[in-house]
Amino acid sequence: MSDTSCVFCDIVAGNEPAARVYEDERTLAFMDTHPKEPGHVLVIPKAHATMIYDMDAETAAAVAQTVVRVARGIREALAPPGLSVIQSNGRIARQVVMHVHFHLIPRGVEGEPSGRSAEEREELAQRIRAGIEAAG
Ligand SMILES: [Zn+2]
Repeated sequence: MSDTSCVFCDIVAGNEPAARVYEDERTLAFMDTHPKEPGHVLVIPKAHATMIYDMDAETAAAVAQTVVRVARGIREALAPPGLSVIQSNGRIARQVVMHVHFHLIPRGVEGEPSGRSAEEREELAQRIRAGIEAAG
């Protein structure tokens, strides 16, 4: 554990484990540790921003590109019938971690590991990483 009070900043810094799916200079994607559905991924900016209002234009653009890239990778890897992209701001909107994040939640996927264990998350991350490569 580092001395930051933000678990997502700790993940970015490598001080907190995560099954990483994609990363570039400005963004990081990793498996949600409490998945709503198999293949549930979070996309965040590496620079701390609390809510959507707090990202500068370049960061917002980079995050949006990563959301689309990872969505295509999930589609390639899991062929979900649907995919939800959810972004919540403020406690009343059920934002739990106060570092802006986008949920990518595949819908209607059957017969896949839930991702509730670290092993399952790593397996899913590996397949989605391969999906991102395949999707280009
Ligand atoms: Zn943070």
